[in-house]
Amino acid sequence: MTSSAELRTAFLEFFRARGHEVVASSPLIPGNDPTLLFTNAGMVQFKDVFLGSDHRPYARATTAQRCVRAGGKHNDLENVGYTARHHTFFEMLGNFSFGDYFKREAIHFAWEFLTVVLKLPAEKLWVTVYASDDEAHAIWAQEIGVPVERIVRIGDNKGAAYASDNFWQMGDTGPCGPCTEIFYDHGPDVAGGPPGSPDEDGDRYIEIWNLVFMQFNRDESGTMHPLPKPSVDTGMGLERLAAVLQHVHSNYEIDLFVRLIAAAAAATNVRDLHSPSLKVIADHIRSTAFLIVDGIVPSNEGRGYVLRRIMRRAIRHGYKLGQNQPFFHRLVAPLVAEMGAAYPELAAAQDFVTRTVLGEEEQFAKTLETGMKLLESVIAELSGTVIPGEVVFQLYDTHGFPVDLTADIARERELSLDMAGFERAMEAQRARSRAASQFGTYRSDSIAVAGSTEFSGYTTLEDAGTIVALFRD
Ligand code: ATP
Ligand code: MG
Ligand code: MG
Ligand code: MG
Repeated sequence: MTSSAELRTAFLEFFRARGHEVVASSPLIPGNDPTLLFTNAGMVQFKDVFLGSDHRPYARATTAQRCVRAGGKHNDLENVGYTARHHTFFEMLGNFSFGDYFKREAIHFAWEFLTVVLKLPAEKLWVTVYASDDEAHAIWAQEIGVPVERIVRIGDNKGAAYASDNFWQMGDTGPCGPCTEIFYDHGPDVAGGPPGSPDEDGDRYIEIWNLVFMQFNRDESGTMHPLPKPSVDTGMGLERLAAVLQHVHSNYEIDLFVRLIAAAAAATNVRDLHSPSLKVIADHIRSTAFLIVDGIVPSNEGRGYVLRRIMRRAIRHGYKLGQNQPFFHRLVAPLVAEMGAAYPELAAAQDFVTRTVLGEEEQFAKTLETGMKLLESVIAELSGTVIPGEVVFQLYDTHGFPVDLTADIARERELSLDMAGFERAMEAQRARSRAASQFGTYRSDSIAVAGSTEFSGYTTLEDAGTIVALFRD
């Protein structure tokens, strides 16, 4: 059994021994990047180094970076609880070359780490390359010796039947480039097809490592400009790697999650450790706690609203398990026990995080139950499968239910939301408040809209739009 902590160290030491500077994880709030909601990859703290506007005393670096993918370009919030491999918060192991080595060394390093250091059987590994990247294909096939049947060419997924995409980008703008990815085959007991096949979205062939050949900077108009020097940015999910090494098929069965799920079960008095709600709660306490550590507090806009949405989803899952007393804050201590050694800033903030979570639980408790009763009565009388927009709005406006929380409940019942109706109700509310505020009678803060003021990368209604899109297919 190789623990997550051992894997983190093994990775960093492997690259340190190969001339890489071990750099600490940066916070989840990108230092000076208003286009990005949260740090969503290891490369984020090095963005300006790739662009050539920042210089470091090293040309190679390695990190274990905390990441959150709960909004913006990389958003896995809707996947949590439904796939074996997605979290809102995860750790990304990465090695970086700033104009130093390129494709050949990056591929050789990755293969050596996986097959020599970790001793993964080569025949369980598949790779993908960017459709036109003959160079990467040749390195894999001829130098490494991966059989061509297990090397899949994948484009940038315009109109393809599959979802994967071998052109990586941090966000709508910024450094980007073609990539090559390494997948692990969890075996025929797990459903899913190989990368690039129509059923690739299962959990059998799991993407573990992405090696990005950073070559371009995409600007606002979408034009790609070559970077000063071709560079390398890689990212491997620590939890996915731990699942492979611990011979389990789901991230939620690794050492750390088994203990967090047990703690979630104890906090909610649940006996069945397989309840999907426990996974959601165990996942969400990590993003919640680390976002608070990194300076976010729950609020009605911007990043604070994303945090609130994550927390309320977790609280609602507790409610679904029969818990109507505050419980979520009780998971902070077990999380510190798991991760406080690797992240001393988490241990240091334990009390503050606990109080902040409890505060949100107490606040939401006032409206959660009445909101749930309203929704249950609407669902009981529903003739079709669509929850009316006015109800979604009322839950949002009066009961503090973020739209994606209502969508999460709807999805469990195979229902969808009338988002157009929701937007009309929202617009009518805005018009009323504009009219009223001319006379100074309406407290505009009581209808604070969930849109963004802190960053320019997304708005909540757009996000709600992606939720609707999810229900369409
Ligand atoms: P997937 O296709 O599985 O959603 P991705 O292609 O979006 O992953 P990348 O952007 O390439 O992921 O990130 C690099 C690595 O980080 C992935 O290969 C994976 O190991 C890990 N990773 C990405 N998203 C998550 C997540 N939500 N939870 C846990 N690990 C993740
Ligand atoms: Mg993804
Ligand atoms: Mg992928
Ligand atoms: Mg990828």
